[in-house]
Amino acid sequence: MIDPTLPLCDLHRHLDGSIRLQTILDIAGQHGIQLPANDIEGLAPHVHIDSSEPGLMAFIARFKYLIEILVDADACKRVAYENIVDAKHEGIDYVELRFSPWFMAQRHGLDPLEVVEACLDGIRTGERETGVRANAIGILSRTYGVETCHQELDAILACRDGIVAVDLAGDETGYPANLFVEHFKRVRDAGLHVTIHAGEADGSHSVWSSINDLGAERIGHGFRSIEDPVLVEHLMKQGIGLECCPTSNLHISAVGAYKEHPIKSLADHGVKFCLNTDDPGISAIDIAHEYNTAAPAMGLSAKQIRQSQLDALDMAFLGSGDKIALRSTGINEA
Ligand SMILES: [Zn+2]
Repeated sequence: MIDPTLPLCDLHRHLDGSIRLQTILDIAGQHGIQLPANDIEGLAPHVHIDSSEPGLMAFIARFKYLIEILVDADACKRVAYENIVDAKHEGIDYVELRFSPWFMAQRHGLDPLEVVEACLDGIRTGERETGVRANAIGILSRTYGVETCHQELDAILACRDGIVAVDLAGDETGYPANLFVEHFKRVRDAGLHVTIHAGEADGSHSVWSSINDLGAERIGHGFRSIEDPVLVEHLMKQGIGLECCPTSNLHISAVGAYKEHPIKSLADHGVKFCLNTDDPGISAIDIAHEYNTAAPAMGLSAKQIRQSQLDALDMAFLGSGDKIALRSTGINEA
């Protein structure tokens, strides 16, 4: 269960995987975009994952209508802003929202730099209005290849002051981390943090490469680290935390059932982790679901769940002063 005396963080949430059904309907209506249904009830089965149809391809197909409505900078700003308002409704104190400007720009031929600026604008407006603390993480979509990722990074680094970290996402097996050594040297030289999607579709060697070749300070998912005891020891000793997104892992069939999720064993070995939603607009979940339903179903003890809530704050890409301030906010609210 969520401990209300501690700050609640979500460090792994894709901004473009978290779009309201009503927003899809609104923007599609304004721009004459055809949808398979014109009300929330009819649209939901086309956007939300139905557990009877899991798998990576089914999951990716769900992005179709989310990306379809990113018609201009205003749409990107609205989606980013609503992410913060929704985080507030979920009781989240601090959220890190990540997005690939290239992926968001592609469908309607937008300028990736304009996408970054619009998302940051929406996030800052949301922060001011709600009091939720937020940071943005730029994603390089490895599936587009090495050259395009340099261009995507150009757009991210042009807005360096509004971005806290850079991530690598997409086809982990086809585009291994070591193809992106130069990109992440640029990221680190710019003074940004590094988190990498790894150890989800591919094995422990992908996690090693993300740490050793790219300088990952945190790992997105990373549950296949369990395949290598030396890596488990390394994660534990170096304090490299895993961003665990339990329901998302089930929805792409990377894990068969909550009770089979390796995070329980990793936690028992002392590896730091936090609980996150990944793409809540597709998985149709909120952060409370991951804490109150998924975490106990994975076999995590109440103590481990509470520790993960503390570790989320520890893993956050925030300065120590900000972490102390957030911690005291949680205490005051209790
Ligand atoms: Zn993710």
